[in-house]
Amino acid sequence: MKYAEIIIEIKAKEVDRVFCYIVPEKLEDKICEGMRVSVPFGRGSRPTEGYVIGISDKPSTTHTLKEITALKDEFPVLTKTSIELAKWMREKYYCTLTDCLQCMLPKFIWGKVVKYIHRGKNFAEGDNISKSAVKQAEVIRLLKEKSPLRRDFLRNEHKISYETLKSLADKNIIEITEQEESRDLYNTENSDPGLTHNPTPEQQRVIVSIISDFESNDKKPFLLRGVTGSGKTLVYTEVIAEALKRGKQAVVLVPEISLTPQTVQRFINRFGSLVTVTHSKMTDGERLDQWKKARRGQVSVMIGPRSAVFAPFDNIGVIIIDEEHEHTYKSEITPKYDAREIAVKLQEICGATVVMGSATPAIESFYRAENGIYKLLELNNRINMKMPEIYAVDMRDEIVLGNKSMFSVKLQNAIKQTLEQKKQIILFLNRRGHSTFVSCRRCGYVMTCESCSVSYTYHMKENRLVCHYCGAAEKIPEVCPSCGSAYIKYFGAGTEKITQEVNKLFPEARVLRMDADTTKSKDSHRQILNAFARGEADILVGTQMIAKGLDFPNVVLVGVVAADLSLNSSDYRSAENTFQLLSQVSGRAGRAESGGKVLIQTYMPENYCIKYAKQNDYISFYREEIEFRRQMKYPPFSHICVVLFSGEDEKKVISFLHRFAAFLDFYGKGKDYEKIGPGAAAVSKIKDRFRHRVIIKGTEEEKLKNYIFYCLEKFQKKENTKEITISVTMNPTYIP
Ligand code: ADP
Ligand code: ZN
Ligand code: ZN
Repeated sequence: MKYAEIIIEIKAKEVDRVFCYIVPEKLEDKICEGMRVSVPFGRGSRPTEGYVIGISDKPSTTHTLKEITALKDEFPVLTKTSIELAKWMREKYYCTLTDCLQCMLPKFIWGKVVKYIHRGKNFAEGDNISKSAVKQAEVIRLLKEKSPLRRDFLRNEHKISYETLKSLADKNIIEITEQEESRDLYNTENSDPGLTHNPTPEQQRVIVSIISDFESNDKKPFLLRGVTGSGKTLVYTEVIAEALKRGKQAVVLVPEISLTPQTVQRFINRFGSLVTVTHSKMTDGERLDQWKKARRGQVSVMIGPRSAVFAPFDNIGVIIIDEEHEHTYKSEITPKYDAREIAVKLQEICGATVVMGSATPAIESFYRAENGIYKLLELNNRINMKMPEIYAVDMRDEIVLGNKSMFSVKLQNAIKQTLEQKKQIILFLNRRGHSTFVSCRRCGYVMTCESCSVSYTYHMKENRLVCHYCGAAEKIPEVCPSCGSAYIKYFGAGTEKITQEVNKLFPEARVLRMDADTTKSKDSHRQILNAFARGEADILVGTQMIAKGLDFPNVVLVGVVAADLSLNSSDYRSAENTFQLLSQVSGRAGRAESGGKVLIQTYMPENYCIKYAKQNDYISFYREEIEFRRQMKYPPFSHICVVLFSGEDEKKVISFLHRFAAFLDFYGKGKDYEKIGPGAAAVSKIKDRFRHRVIIKGTEEEKLKNYIFYCLEKFQKKENTKEITISVTMNPTYIP
């Protein structure tokens, strides 16, 4: 007799363990690890889905065992690697195994396949159905008109229950089949292999280093620091080509597919239909199709955002993480995994070579490279050998000159000149989490969303105030709700305002705008970028959306309208983020023969991150920043854990959190943990739920995590915390 270890597909913590089932004889030959099965579960033996994560000859328990009912697919949906990874993730990110498995499997697998009802073998006998079986008779009548019929149609339009269909099917009057609908995938037909280049000697050296690691037993992740325009993408494609030659597969992670269409196209040009692309706007069905193609080995390269790190390949040779410093690699929802950490774990589990590339690596990553945890590779030269000239423009001088426009005289002149040369311009608004708010000039009152406690954002087109957290909208009041004055004004610069100002100053220029408002529909990113690439506009105005990976040879001028916006946040990463954004956007200028120019408008030109961005000097920036982190005991010299409590009753949230903090104090006594708070979260209310948090710093991640979860466990044993939600985040991108 055989026994199977099974994880039940229910998210509750109580069932987050392995259950043992008997494998019935008829399934003995077919069952294997990683398969999806149907099992009776719980007291009612309700049919439930589960995953086989082990098979043995002995039962792992002495309890009475139930039998597996059926196999759901003909092949294992989970690879050995993914099972091992899930077990590791569960410990690392404090979540259930089911949470982890759901990252690895497309949603659709959980039974959303279309069912069809056909006329059965004994359909003719359906005349003999008793008149009292009204519903059964109705099905037969409908099937006489048309066959097959969709199951959901019968349910929604005719209220036909599953029992009705089952009793008809048992008598073979009808037949039920399942079918998947085929869907359009990202078009990989449009590939053009002629567009690839031969590597330069500098690129070749890097490629050779990475390839020689393939068979090595002493693997370390590579950190590839290559200045913007140094040709990192070609390095990636050459390395992948070699992996494929050796019968392996490749995963390419990009921060966001829609923002990097050119990068994706280069992979398609090189590998054609061997590539599959996942993205966040895909339907569940599309995702499933791609997943299957990868699982069946019909494709060998998967490109996508962080979730693509779970590509169901059997033999991953290389994992590329482009723009590795991007915050999108960290998941904000459970399980709160970091795709970079998963990649490094995959290197350990299945020997994949990991390459993380960036012009401006995360401070933590470069620190690891300096300390030998990563291997550093560098590309120091642009392919065209021309770095853009970067200037800072001190905006304080403009006020003295009486220039109240958001464009300095220098930037205005540069725009004029570039337009005359018939070249293109990018105007960039350094806006991450900052927005145009409306306030009273007399008393300072700021218009705020009542349920989220964040300031409303002013939308010029609809002339309304919109909350970016919950979507609530309001008219702008005529007078200040607080003091009654009529001086209600909006502050800060939005992309709309920039566009308006450009239209005023340069009425002949054709302007495109790219931000969250203009890119709501599925294909809008690509359309805007393509239009700009085709030269249908002279100026592209945008937020950080346009900072990444774009390669427009005709752009010779980049203007950063307000560099300081992201510097003035309270986050310890604000200097790093600002430096990275400025470097990225500067990298968009002068990518062709002609070279290019960048103007950074700022009120603090002496700030080190502006200074080094201007000099294009990552290393000096890193030296200064790492000293600051060391002195302040910020990551990488510590780990920061945020425990956030939220709930509808603020008093309860606060009192629970204070009692939890007492546990932290008690068990942390005499240890070198630093507790900050408890206090209200930066956004203290979202969708009518109050949010308070406590921050704990510690030097060792593992110890810090164990300490916090120990305290949580003790706390939850003592208190009934049903009314509040507890979330724990290790080293969050932004402190909530
Ligand atoms: P990065 O990602 O490092 O900013 P890209 O990969 O976008 O740089 O490359 C910059 C430009 O140089 C692209 O237009 C690319 O096609 C081109 N390029 C890259 N490698 C070569 C090469 N070996 N020969 C000629 N052109 C190249
Ligand atoms: Zn007022
Ligand atoms: Zn709101």
